[in-house]
Amino acid sequence: MPKVIVVGGGYAGMAASTALAEAGIAVDLLESRGSLGGRAYSIPPSGPFPVPVDNGPHLFMGCYAETLRMLHRIGATDAFHWIDPLALTWRTPGGKKVSLKCAPLPAPFHLAWGLFTSNAFPFKEKTSMARALSAFSKKPFRLSPGVQTVAQFLDATAQGPLSRERFWVPLCGSVMNVSPAVAPIGGLGEVLHRVFFGNRRDSAMGVARLPLGDLVSEKARRYLEEKGSRVLLHEGVQELTLNEKTFGVKTRSGAVWTGDALVLAIPPSSLSALWPRDGWEAAAHFSQMGKSSIVSVHVILSKPVMGEHLLGLSGARFEWVFNRNANWAWNGKGLFKNTGTPHPDPLPQGEREARFNASSTPSPLRGEGWGEGDGKDFQYLSFTASAADDLARQKDPELLSLARRELTDRCPAAKDAQVLHSKVTREMAATFVWSGETERLRPPCQTPYPNVFLAGDWTNTGLPATLEGACLSGRRAAEKVRAYLS
Ligand SMILES: Cc1cc2nc3c(=O)[nH]c(=O)nc-3n(C[C@H](O)[C@H](O)[C@H](O)COP(=O)(O)OP(=O)(O)OC[C@H]3O[C@@H](n4cnc5c(N)ncnc54)[C@H](O)[C@@H]3O)c2cc1C
Repeated sequence: MPKVIVVGGGYAGMAASTALAEAGIAVDLLESRGSLGGRAYSIPPSGPFPVPVDNGPHLFMGCYAETLRMLHRIGATDAFHWIDPLALTWRTPGGKKVSLKCAPLPAPFHLAWGLFTSNAFPFKEKTSMARALSAFSKKPFRLSPGVQTVAQFLDATAQGPLSRERFWVPLCGSVMNVSPAVAPIGGLGEVLHRVFFGNRRDSAMGVARLPLGDLVSEKARRYLEEKGSRVLLHEGVQELTLNEKTFGVKTRSGAVWTGDALVLAIPPSSLSALWPRDGWEAAAHFSQMGKSSIVSVHVILSKPVMGEHLLGLSGARFEWVFNRNANWAWNGKGLFKNTGTPHPDPLPQGEREARFNASSTPSPLRGEGWGEGDGKDFQYLSFTASAADDLARQKDPELLSLARRELTDRCPAAKDAQVLHSKVTREMAATFVWSGETERLRPPCQTPYPNVFLAGDWTNTGLPATLEGACLSGRRAAEKVRAYLS
């Protein structure tokens, strides 16, 4: 039976390994950290922050076909709240609520109706938005000559200030994690095409009902082991030897692993450190992909201030706020009991899953057992800012006070809410920097070695650095391995 080595247990590595395992090919999955999931992970309750934290929002979309395929394979598809038809709500400075709510109609009429009835944009801006979006209805996209970046596209299609502030700029940040001045319009167009011009359900937004660590990590490991594969955690690869048809990977424990084929599903900085100096031109560019950050501020407030799963903060640096009470259906019992000392997650894995899977409706926002057990209300919010190299350099108190100010300016109910706990997470290398330049440097799946393949959100998928890009790259690598082995 052939043996495949997969290095890296993020979504790309998990997609590749589980696809191979499903096809009856045994895999050894080598991961340097203590769990699978890669850049989509949770931090368990630690220090003074009494609840788990997700390092990022990690929104899923209905058009994430490869991600959903992988989650379905490992039995994790029921773990979402689906916002279908797509609905977005923003709060403006001063506290007004505005929204864009798509209709239960076939695409793209669902969006056309949503735009037409939206109170988030003036009529004139809606017409220019509709015209601009229609450029991506069919391939090849209709772009004026010379338009290469998102910023150039917004200027060329005369997008108004509110459509930029509420739609285009946060969309570009969330999807591509770079500013419109840098982002190639073709990349954003690919996403708009997939989201709005296929099936209506492609634009549904999925918010995980579990912290990310619980969503996939254990299920993927169990799936692989049941199929006869092995997951080796804390086994970071330290040396890579590549020959014409053989390879060896030496890991932290000193073991050397070999097999019939190798999939390297690790970020460009790690791969650059391992790849031999063999003259492959693409490899010379691994270290030039750049890094773009995402910064999140997580707070527990003394009273509820919002009920939506997520809220856009119009004109704010923290573009989105996620409501973890609603996302994770926590009613505050146990998990929110603050004894003032760090404590382990009080619900065992199985019990927590059973509870979450049993309820898909948001729980009441009232917390019980908070503080001294006086039944005080609370709210757990996570603020997120994309393309945030500027924020990543700021200190925690500055970030907390910015997030707080931006919220209270827009949600009057937050004015007298106390911050009971806070935590800042900075992902300095959340994604590569997708620009016109790096677009040309994204490497293919196939390397010059016939049995060595690359995967990862930064490889040449045509998609942004997202879970879907990662899973697509993993599936493609698995297909190439199967073709090679057969
Ligand atoms: C804060 C944040 C928010 C995000 N929000 C979203 C979102 O809302 N929606 C979305 O679709 N995407 C989002 N993303 C992007 C998404 O998380 C990534 O695109 C995706 O997780 C990348 O997966 P990957 O497998 O390509 O890489 P990774 O997740 O980086 O996986 C690589 C794995 O390789 C391991 N590794 C590295 N070096 C070695 C070595 N030498 N030996 C062994 N193992 C090694 C790493 O530990 C890691 O587990 C977000 C990312 C961040 C950071």
